[in-house]
Amino acid sequence: MSKGKLIVLSAPSGTGKSTIINELMKDSTLGLSFSVSATSRRPREGEKDGVNYYFLTQEEFERRIAADEFVEWAEVYAGTYYGTLASEIERITSSGRNVIMDIDVAGAENVKKMYGSRALTIFIEPPSLEVLKERLTGRGTDDADSIARRLGKAEYEMGFASAYDREIVNDSLDKAVADVAEEIREFTRKEA
Ligand code: 5GP
Repeated sequence: MSKGKLIVLSAPSGTGKSTIINELMKDSTLGLSFSVSATSRRPREGEKDGVNYYFLTQEEFERRIAADEFVEWAEVYAGTYYGTLASEIERITSSGRNVIMDIDVAGAENVKKMYGSRALTIFIEPPSLEVLKERLTGRGTDDADSIARRLGKAEYEMGFASAYDREIVNDSLDKAVADVAEEIREFTRKEA
């Protein structure tokens, strides 16, 4: 059986990426499994270890970096690590399923370098930074400091959008989901 492909989604925090990913995973014709990343940040309300992330201490994360267990990792926020474990990609793609990854701009670049035409990178953009600010405030999961940090980060990340294979603006959720699904369908039909 041939190995599955890698779909990388990046988007500024609050752009609706998680919702888009959840909708894509419901479409069984896409054959997607979510790559659960490791992180050294604390779980948010409702997040589960092994489902949303593998929650590791900073020490454990650093031990695994040293042991070369990550395909890619990045210090997405100062002092907070995020990374993709090689075992996670292998577990999913060896059964022929496609892996969907929610990773930042540095991670996307590294995955593309490593996997080339086996990976499709998609950047989801908010309609504007104003709309993003409203969404982050409305979500109610982050304090003012965290929102300011995420907005600054968003502006920085949007500067990388054109380096992705595809850019999709999320101004209507249904349309964004349909557009991403179509891109994935087209990509997974092709030979790697
Ligand atoms: P959050 O804290 O909101 O869950 O995620 C913050 C950021 O970390 C998001 O932009 C997300 O894409 C990124 N991220 C999550 N997992 C990974 C990973 O495994 N590798 C990299 N490079 N970034 C990640």
